[in-house]
Amino acid sequence: MISASDEPREACGIFGVYAPGEDVARLTFFGLYALQHRGQESAGIAAADGEDLAVRTGMGLVSQVFDEEDLAFLRGHIAIGHTRYSTTGSSVVCNAQPIVVRDGATGRPIALAHNGNLVNYRVLREDLEAQGVQFETTTDSELIAHLLALAPGATWEERFHYVMRRAEGAYSLVIMTPDTLFAVRDPLGVRPLCIGRLGEGWVVASESCALEHLGVPMEREVAPGEVIQIDANGARSFFPAAPAPRLALCTFEFIYFARPDSYLAGHLLYPIREEMGAQLAREHPVDADIVIGVPDSAVPAAIGFARESGIPYREGLVKNRYVGRTFIQPDQRIREAGVSLKFNALHEVLAGKRVVIVDDSIVRGTTTPRVVNLVRRAGAREVHMRITAPPIVSPCFFGVDMATKWELIAANKSVEEIRQHIGADSLGYLSLEGLIRATRQSPDTLCNACFTGVYPIDVQMQMDSLEPPSERARELAALESLNRAGRP
Ligand code: SF4
Repeated sequence: MISASDEPREACGIFGVYAPGEDVARLTFFGLYALQHRGQESAGIAAADGEDLAVRTGMGLVSQVFDEEDLAFLRGHIAIGHTRYSTTGSSVVCNAQPIVVRDGATGRPIALAHNGNLVNYRVLREDLEAQGVQFETTTDSELIAHLLALAPGATWEERFHYVMRRAEGAYSLVIMTPDTLFAVRDPLGVRPLCIGRLGEGWVVASESCALEHLGVPMEREVAPGEVIQIDANGARSFFPAAPAPRLALCTFEFIYFARPDSYLAGHLLYPIREEMGAQLAREHPVDADIVIGVPDSAVPAAIGFARESGIPYREGLVKNRYVGRTFIQPDQRIREAGVSLKFNALHEVLAGKRVVIVDDSIVRGTTTPRVVNLVRRAGAREVHMRITAPPIVSPCFFGVDMATKWELIAANKSVEEIRQHIGADSLGYLSLEGLIRATRQSPDTLCNACFTGVYPIDVQMQMDSLEPPSERARELAALESLNRAGRP
């Protein structure tokens, strides 16, 4: 079976709306629906009416978690939503977001949804536990919520200053009290966040595609380090933390995570991905008959490769669009038959051809050999693999579930060894310089740590905790049992 298990997985999509007179829960539902690609494990919506707030969360896709009854229950003029792929914290329903905590000063509820990962999770957690905080979940998102709930200060600006001075790492947040919506982006700007105007109201989303689906014009991206506060007095913006020495927008958002119809750092992603493919063709030319892309994410790059190389683009792999996460494993007979549940190869397109396959990444190296094999079994004469990213040599600590260093194939094998492993006739990776040029960003505004091992901030403690992987698994298991024991 070709599963999705070898793809880097994004942590979360977040959405928020402040719009008196609108059905904010329904808007949030459809916003999350457009952000489903950022996380398929659980989803949640919280809504507030000025006095109190209500929340509904559940495991599964957005369309599986909510029904009309839920949306009717979630009344008010403010809502936030979250769709999750677990990173810190395992995939159990108690880790679904939005997370709700009580404000230490007023006793009022605060709901929070988070995209990203803190790198100083353990230190902060120990601090908060020493202050008597009892954690309900194993997520760093709950940690941020408690930090804010306990933050001293007479104003929200002072309280966010307290939180953002302590939280290190990646965090794009939507936060809601009964009468106020906040949109927050960490000073490094690792994860995207944008804001749009809905009449007199406002909508915040991880990606601009979610705004466009709702007919909401995008106003701008939330700036790194910015907090936008929206309430009955309108919207105001402040920068509570000192600016980071450099920015670190995740390059993988350009390569893979964000939808090609989203704008990121001022640019539409579709032509950026085409340019990645074109650059790949310049760096790793090959004599071939057709170019195909691994659907859906690598298709724009494959089109760019084809255009630059002059080799015709064809659809050689068809994706079963309804494959999601399944707990039903194929039996031995299905496995032995080598049937792909995710892709099907088009024999008539591939048979007898020298084929270039464009894909966006090789993580562990478990899926790519199966794709190559599928194309060969469809009759391809030669298979040339081209990857629109440099080799991934270091894990991500900023909210992407990739793998530990031990599991990353490029951390342990040369390009030639990987070529042999995947069974391709040739293999070419996009250079880091070529990748950065295609993104149209300045190199010092991007995070490229998974390609370089150079992190924008110190992550040494986390690296220690992740190697070897079994230790990480033990740590998470210990945290979970700790929480279970502490829960009534
Ligand atoms: S390490 Fe890689 S995946 Fe993680 S934020 Fe940096 S560029 Fe993105």
